[in-house]
Amino acid sequence: MTVLVYIDYVPATRQPRQESLAIIDVARDIAQKLGVDVEGVVVNSVVVATKLRDMKILPKIYNIRLKNVPEGTYTPTLFGEALVEFCKRRNVEVFLFPATQRCREIAPYVAAKLDTGLVADVSELYVDEKKEVIAVKPSFGENILAHIYIPDRKPKMFTVRASLRKRTITTYDTCELIHEEVTVQEHYGIEYVKSGQVYDPDIEILPERHDIVIGVGAGLSKDSIELVKAIAKKLGIGVGATKKITDRGILSSKFLIGESGKIIRPRVYIALGISGAPQHMTGVKDYELLIAVNIDERAPIVNYSTHFYKSDANELVRKIAELVLR
Ligand SMILES: Cc1cc2nc3c(=O)[nH]c(=O)nc-3n(C[C@H](O)[C@H](O)[C@H](O)COP(=O)(O)OP(=O)(O)OC[C@H]3O[C@@H](n4cnc5c(N)ncnc54)[C@H](O)[C@@H]3O)c2cc1C
Repeated sequence: MTVLVYIDYVPATRQPRQESLAIIDVARDIAQKLGVDVEGVVVNSVVVATKLRDMKILPKIYNIRLKNVPEGTYTPTLFGEALVEFCKRRNVEVFLFPATQRCREIAPYVAAKLDTGLVADVSELYVDEKKEVIAVKPSFGENILAHIYIPDRKPKMFTVRASLRKRTITTYDTCELIHEEVTVQEHYGIEYVKSGQVYDPDIEILPERHDIVIGVGAGLSKDSIELVKAIAKKLGIGVGATKKITDRGILSSKFLIGESGKIIRPRVYIALGISGAPQHMTGVKDYELLIAVNIDERAPIVNYSTHFYKSDANELVRKIAELVLR
């Protein structure tokens, strides 16, 4: 029996995603409590699997080779089928995925094909006294914390949202790398054309990468938010947003913090024109300083703030931009 971790990676750089590495600790902890082995699995990348072997953060890594499919090719069904075939060959008790965009596509496919249960976007996992793996998932803006388990099915599957703050993962003496070939039916109606690198101009300011994050809300104008992005790029800090901002298309969902978006653990969160709805605040954890600027001193963000300033956040952004961007 094993606890299996799916290692998602960035195809262009062939680097394991930070989100994948961040859940390895969780997997190891669950495996230890269940008294079973922990293993990792990569689909169709010798390069990524080799990098993981050299990191020695898992005792065993599988690379599932897809016959006749070039490395770098990705479709959810292709990867999903590979994992289904892989799971059928072994006794996987628990299967963890990082809650990345790709895994949100692959994991439900695998769960449906294996006729098992999947709890998505869990913020915590633990093993209870009956050795049942329990997923904790905030609902209704963290007013309810649902504790969910999957009865009578295997593998028990979870997509896990983990903190990306740097942590030390203890290493093993060795890591065994095993290549296993799987034949999947061709592309399931999706034709492979070509793969290439997509440049993301926002990558440097994504909120999960930084200890200092400016959160922007509906109290800021579109122009101010553009200035905040420029300031963040110049200062090397991150930008997060509320749902109002991403729903309006001012920033993409990569910036969304909260129940429907990312969970971040910055040391400093600067909330500009954000009311402090629970659905947003559930995504900002473990901060040491929360500085809020809002024109309304009765806004709920006051209750989360270490420092609150009643002020026009647009005005403040303009002044900081004058200083920082000149
Ligand atoms: C199922 C569900 C899931 C959700 N998931 C998320 C989620 O993941 N993330 C998320 O963020 N939201 C989420 N929401 C939405 C959430 O409930 C709030 O509507 C949203 O967070 C509010 O965004 P906001 O603070 O930008 O806007 P508002 O609530 O409109 O607040 C704007 C604030 O700006 C202040 N303001 C106005 N002008 C200025 C100024 N010039 N200077 C300074 N302050 C000013 C106002 O006083 C106000 O406090 C979800 C809602 C539901 C129902």
